[in-house]
Amino acid sequence: MEHVSTRGQSPPLDFAAATLAGLAPDGGLYLPRAWPRLAPETFRALASADYVTTAARVLAPLTAPVLDEAALLPLLHRAYDGFAHAAVTPLVQLDSRHWLLELHHGPTLAFKDLALQLLGQFFARFLEAGGPPLTIIGATSGDTGSAAIAAVAGIPGVRIFMLHPHGRVSEVQRRQMTTVVAGNVHNIAVDGSFDDCQALVKALFNDPALRARHRLSAVNSINWARLAAQTVYYVHAALRLGAPGRALSFSVPTGNFGDVFAGHVAAEMGLPVERLMVATNENDILARALGTGDYSRRRLTPTQSPSMDIQVSSNFERLIFDLSGRDGARTAAAMRAFEAEGRLTLWPELLAHMRQRFTPARIDAPDMAEAMRWAWQRCGVLVDPHTAIGLAAARRLEEEVEGPIVTLATAHPAKFPDAVEAATGVRPGLPERLADLFDRPERMTRLALCQARLADFIDRAPA
Ligand SMILES: *Cc1c(COP(=O)(O)O)cnc(C)c1O
Repeated sequence: MEHVSTRGQSPPLDFAAATLAGLAPDGGLYLPRAWPRLAPETFRALASADYVTTAARVLAPLTAPVLDEAALLPLLHRAYDGFAHAAVTPLVQLDSRHWLLELHHGPTLAFKDLALQLLGQFFARFLEAGGPPLTIIGATSGDTGSAAIAAVAGIPGVRIFMLHPHGRVSEVQRRQMTTVVAGNVHNIAVDGSFDDCQALVKALFNDPALRARHRLSAVNSINWARLAAQTVYYVHAALRLGAPGRALSFSVPTGNFGDVFAGHVAAEMGLPVERLMVATNENDILARALGTGDYSRRRLTPTQSPSMDIQVSSNFERLIFDLSGRDGARTAAAMRAFEAEGRLTLWPELLAHMRQRFTPARIDAPDMAEAMRWAWQRCGVLVDPHTAIGLAAARRLEEEVEGPIVTLATAHPAKFPDAVEAATGVRPGLPERLADLFDRPERMTRLALCQARLADFIDRAPA
């Protein structure tokens, strides 16, 4: 399968090259040239298959000819065998309509592990061919950083430099990054805000001298391989709830539109999906876009679901491209206009296509807390604030669909103990495997907000 850019101006790449590149040179995002279809018999044959077997079958048409099922299996085992639940992504039934798909049994307790653990294995595999080490630079306000570090720690041929704003991430989040002991992991606490960190990373990527000295890569959700990995749990969950014989809906706590786009991919590959519910917090650019066509940037409102606190959804560009007849020129023009003016009005035909599959719901703090209480009091399940937003959306929209509704549980409640305790009166404890997190030694470097200092640090770090 070849991969094309959403902006239509980059040469197509195979799966390995698209994975290593991240962003396309024309500024666009990679997607397969066409969606492969899985036949109903293929789905039926997977009815009682485990996660890894399902993953190999679903991913093979996306990764071919670079990786076939046999080549995928060992990578998938290495990525997922260490998860704390034998089912990898267990389903929990809440009531007759609602289910939770628990995606937080990986090493850092958030769904990003599902994608990043496999991305680490893809990097290891694609770098076996040799060449200079891959230098990953990223900025994090929390979840992505720890998941990326856990994914590449100890992988030969990869170095990771993860910036976080000094003193501005939670202690659990910081410790999940700084207690990883591996020579290729470099945690950098920057004296500045998260936006400063992001701007610094962007400046480094735009520095031709640095690019000439290092093979730079990114691990944010612009990387196509991450989204490919995420299509698997939609399929796996649906099969256990009766697909392909019946359709079901998913409610997805959404920020950058990566996770819910993976649901769209699963549907395009033939999975019967009734609705994809796009749940946002008060940062509702997507709810407005899918509701009225107004895709416009607003000021950031900090909430208790920080991983959904976004002004712009980077992966929305993929949907615009895919549902506008894959018109690269039109997508590029729309994104350039959005970048210049901070707003874009979705054309009616495009919006109509989007609304055939996606239903938006904006959930504010009181409804989020109410969903947390409902899950706890009615079902005995503690959910984190991100999951609670998905659950609130699922319950608000339940009359609009017929089949089961699966809410994606994107983080473990112990990652956000204060919010969970405020809503339910119960303070969730860290799972056993992280119980000694506060006793482990930390390792990080504190740097001033200075591009030259950071570039120098990267130059000097061991390969
Ligand atoms: C990243 C994240 C999200 C949002 O996912 P997107 O793919 O950016 O839409 C939701 N919940 C949690 C816990 C996350 O870490």
